[in-house]
Amino acid sequence: MLSHRPLRARFHSAALAANLQLARRQAGGSRLIAVVKADGYGHGVLRATRALAAADALAVLELDAAHRLRGAGWSRRIVLLEGFFGESELPEIDAMGLFCVVHHEEQLRMLEAFKPRRPIPLLLKFNTGMNRLGFALGELRSVLTRAAALRCAGDLTLMTHFACADDDGGIAWQLERFDAACEGLDLPRSLANSAALLRYPATAEAWARPGIMLYGASPFAESSAQSLGLAPGMTLQSALIAVQRLSPGERVGYGGSFVAPAAMRVGIVACGYADGYPRHAATGTPVLVDGVRSRTLGRVSMDMLCVDLAPVPAAGVGSPVVLWGQGLAVEEVAAACGTISYELLCAVAPRVPFVED
Ligand SMILES: *Cc1c(COP(=O)(O)O)cnc(C)c1O
Repeated sequence: MLSHRPLRARFHSAALAANLQLARRQAGGSRLIAVVKADGYGHGVLRATRALAAADALAVLELDAAHRLRGAGWSRRIVLLEGFFGESELPEIDAMGLFCVVHHEEQLRMLEAFKPRRPIPLLLKFNTGMNRLGFALGELRSVLTRAAALRCAGDLTLMTHFACADDDGGIAWQLERFDAACEGLDLPRSLANSAALLRYPATAEAWARPGIMLYGASPFAESSAQSLGLAPGMTLQSALIAVQRLSPGERVGYGGSFVAPAAMRVGIVACGYADGYPRHAATGTPVLVDGVRSRTLGRVSMDMLCVDLAPVPAAGVGSPVVLWGQGLAVEEVAAACGTISYELLCAVAPRVPFVED
């Protein structure tokens, strides 16, 4: 039975399916790797996967997540986005037939020593300027030669990741380097995350890797998900569990950081930082009360937060509250908190019950 505490994460399955279709149109004939890492960006990896059943492949980080997907019947490709962390993982990668990123010399050495039951398809990842993961471009030919010589290698795909696809930095500086290094090679490539797929669809190539857009959030600071045609995959909703009347000069919450400038009504919402709502959300973070835009007041507590009821004089105990989702874009809430939608979505706590549309 669901908790009587009114906090819920409503999962919009049809929105994920529609967002995937939008990614599909954007990608032309390219295949789509739906990124479901971080428990499906906080939506639940199995829940997200059911909604994204039309994807050509899924991408996760951990073997455990791959196990759960195989256990749930996913038979198409599963990418391990960082490959393996030790050779002990190789037999399972082999057994599950995973599509494995190789980004480092150590991984290549472990593969050279491994005898698989069947060929392992590999994504060879190169560093084109993000300087996080990937072989240096100068090693591209030697890595390719070694990968091609592996007993265990299945099909090979060249991969890189863009650092600034969502902002003014763009992708040209990385793409030019990658193109130059790949010159004359006839191998499939995987480049695009959501931002690149939306902004530079030519980068979809063999395998595009959309993540955040599938969950209905915009990867861009300057354009909303709605303007991109994306629908929110989750609505975090709750209700008022108390109402306080403050006299001028009275304060609300820990530290008393908000001081009422005049007499006002304050709503207490069942949602706090232990639910994943950011504690650093300052007074003024947008929230919907009874469908009307209002703002948070004072500090977010572990289990509660406070909202201004001035714009909704009729609101009382039981009035519905939307923290983000339908009617209030998660990226707007994130921007008000000095972060990005990804962080808010991934942080939704296990104690928040999901309900499906
Ligand atoms: C997370 C991730 C993606 C998806 O990025 P979005 O910005 O969510 O679209 C794509 N590729 C790699 C390598 C990733 O780690």
